[in-house]
Amino acid sequence: MGINAPLNRKLRMGLVGGGQGSFIGRVHSIAACLDNRAELVAGALSSDPDRAKASAPDYDIQPDRAYAGIKELIEKELALPTEKRIDFVSVATPNHTHFEVAKAAAEAGFAVFCDKPMTFDLSQAEELARIVEKTKGVFVVTHNYTGYPLVRQAREMILAGELGEINAVRSCYIQGWLRSRLESSGQKQAEWRTDPKRSGIAGCFGDIATHAYNLGRFMTGLIPDTVSCHLKTFEPGRALDDYGTAIIRYKNGALGSVTASQISHGRENDLRIEIDGTKGSLEWNQENPNQMIYRRNGQPMALYTRGGGPYLGSMAAGATRIPAGHPEGYLEAFANIYAAGFEAIAARAAGNHADCRNSLFPNVFDGVDGMNFITQCVASSQQNAGWLSLYHSACR
Ligand code: NAD
Repeated sequence: MGINAPLNRKLRMGLVGGGQGSFIGRVHSIAACLDNRAELVAGALSSDPDRAKASAPDYDIQPDRAYAGIKELIEKELALPTEKRIDFVSVATPNHTHFEVAKAAAEAGFAVFCDKPMTFDLSQAEELARIVEKTKGVFVVTHNYTGYPLVRQAREMILAGELGEINAVRSCYIQGWLRSRLESSGQKQAEWRTDPKRSGIAGCFGDIATHAYNLGRFMTGLIPDTVSCHLKTFEPGRALDDYGTAIIRYKNGALGSVTASQISHGRENDLRIEIDGTKGSLEWNQENPNQMIYRRNGQPMALYTRGGGPYLGSMAAGATRIPAGHPEGYLEAFANIYAAGFEAIAARAAGNHADCRNSLFPNVFDGVDGMNFITQCVASSQQNAGWLSLYHSACR
């Protein structure tokens, strides 16, 4: 990977969120700049204007480009000459603010890298998709787990038919950090995630089940048909779900399940997926992401390793940076999402077609799909796990 041909320069990044004491903004800045194809030059880093400015030196952002909010960022960046102006905006703020920030950035002509869930509610997601269809801009949703080399290997094997017809997709994302009412201690990340005014209609399901659902869709390419879901709130007094299971019927007859928990003692970020096909089964787990197991009855179990050799397809081989055996992980996978987005930005700049519907990176339509999944899971749970459609016209 190198500089962004044919632009032949680094892309300029504006970061929204990521202020002192926050989590994912720093990850975005590392991931975007890991391959030396981008530099962070501007930011509106916090909801508190003073903290936004105070946080800028932590990222080497110059004071004149440390903005108090998205409005100022857009106005002042648009006023700069094009050779100084940012190329893209990364949205690393709590869910209720994604829409305002992403819409303003997309309408101003910037590429957008927006964290998940894409918006606060489905109607906002639909509007973002309409905007992107109109502007034809690059819009990336950081479902970062699809950036792991072996996740891409699984996709390549499945789409090539190596596993045969896919019958079952079991994914789960299990955490334990919200086993107590951490939100009442003032812990920032717990506070907004358990608040319906900032998180959206779902808690745990919006926060992490969306990743598990998206992972199944990315790996298998299956089209979902209907969903039946049961959500629970186990911590007394909490306003949103902290546990749930959804059963998904796919169009091809396959059955899927997505379980998400934030109340399982001792569990950290246990996102795992198992896929059963008529010819073979795959198993992958993000806490051990450099390995994937492939099983076929009557044959020895095969252990795929990241960078392990010529058996890897081009998607996996192109997503690694260092020799096998040296662990790569979360940051590198996140950087792979950015790398795919940068390819699209460079292609657009050269006047070439970049397919932003069937892209390698998760796009605005995947974002709508995620919001539709959350919406239908909550509605199904309210109807005693009744079966509801997962069809959405934007996600053809
Ligand atoms: P956080 O609370 O740690 O940080 C949020 C930051 O955004 C803070 O600095 C806050 O001041 C700032 N902010 C809030 N409103 C703002 C506004 N209007 N303008 C500018 N800055 C504003 O939250 P977090 O854990 O980093 O999560 C942020 C987002 O990233 C959420 O949508 C979350 O779901 C997502 N996330 C994704 C992953 C992933 O793996 N892809 C992991 C964690 C979080």
